[in-house]
Amino acid sequence: MPNPSPNFTREELECPCCKALIVQPILLDGLEKLRATARDIALDIFETIIYLPVSSVYRCPLHNAEVGGKWDSAHVYGKAADIPLGLYGLSVSQHRYVITRAITMSGAFNRVGINRTSIHVDVDENKAQNVWWDYYKKEAE
Ligand SMILES: [Zn+2]
Ligand SMILES: [Zn+2]
Repeated sequence: MPNPSPNFTREELECPCCKALIVQPILLDGLEKLRATARDIALDIFETIIYLPVSSVYRCPLHNAEVGGKWDSAHVYGKAADIPLGLYGLSVSQHRYVITRAITMSGAFNRVGINRTSIHVDVDENKAQNVWWDYYKKEAE
């Protein structure tokens, strides 16, 4: 499968253990929207240019189990992305501010998980909609 997105590398999207790649177009659409909005906000508030790298998108069931994900994690279906925080000269809390503000302003995602140093977004229509949660007891999903 060729790289399905101009703004995200195949390495960012594929499973790190087996290089398999399943990614839903609706997830990429949301990430593109979020990327553009986050860029505008960071430029406006912090006068910094930021990109939107993703640290995890597709996970095969084996790798998902290894990292402690739930068996039906949205990552297994190529419907989720984790956005790392604390990059481009922003502190983790500044970067979290930019990304959460961009999520609400763009309306790109309505399922959001807040981690200490990353934010999970997904487009899994089989799970509860319009929810934000945290991982403060358990780091990964
Ligand atoms: Zn794998
Ligand atoms: Zn995640």
